[in-house]
Amino acid sequence: MITADHEEDAMDELELLLELHRDGERQGPGGDDETRLAITLSGLAARQRLAVADIGCGTGASTLVLARELDASITAVDFLPPFLARLEARAGEAGLGNRIETLAASMDALPFEPASLDAIWSEGAIYNLGFARGIEAWRPFLKPGGVLAVSELTWLTQARPAELEQHWAGEYAEVATASAKIAQLEAAGYSLLGYFPLPERCWLENYYRPLQARFAAFLAQFDHAEAAEAIVAAEEAEIALYERYQAFVSYGFYVARRVN
Ligand code: SAH
Repeated sequence: MITADHEEDAMDELELLLELHRDGERQGPGGDDETRLAITLSGLAARQRLAVADIGCGTGASTLVLARELDASITAVDFLPPFLARLEARAGEAGLGNRIETLAASMDALPFEPASLDAIWSEGAIYNLGFARGIEAWRPFLKPGGVLAVSELTWLTQARPAELEQHWAGEYAEVATASAKIAQLEAAGYSLLGYFPLPERCWLENYYRPLQARFAAFLAQFDHAEAAEAIVAAEEAEIALYERYQAFVSYGFYVARRVN
């Protein structure tokens, strides 16, 4: 999970995180197959001329799949322009540039018209706003019947080892079971179309291993500065925790429809 949370160092830390992550194919756990599975659950592939937003898109892992699979104009939103530049380059290489527009904006101040979107997609990013706030704030942008598809840190079991619980409760207090997240969606005016947890491959093979492969060059680039070492140490600790406790935690993918 990418968090820059110490006020006075936040700019520097963000800069470092950007450098560490801009060359990644994705900036969080996920997979092209899993994006496609969520698309299947959404029913969107059968529809035409869709308006879709991908919020917290990073360098565009999910954006590229959406552009390939859907008849859609996609607005890819992130607050870090260098990620969007990378996304544009990738879209161009894949011949998908004409379906994707990028927008540098914060997810808590999106400029969309009310009821203008057929779908809001957001993989591994809504935690920056918080799940409860995000599903509430984004709902008005969806047309009635429009689709919300988000992946979100989720407990896979009722009981968890204390070490794991303490770590994630400290990093992201909203971590909860799927049943709790689904109840939140229903209370916020959504109807569930489907849920699945991301498999291990989405974390290790697709995200953590490529990230680890960038650590040495990242540390060298910043002369092993303390702040860079701290970021790598925190990532390594998170990875070790995941490897140990993957039976208890993952991202859940929630696909839901705006009611009315
Ligand atoms: N969806 C991508 C990236 C996930 S990482 C993927 O799955 O690979 C989370 C992303 O959210 C990062 O790209 C980060 O820059 C972006 N982000 C964080 N806070 C944000 C905010 N307030 N507004 C917009 N984007 C934000």
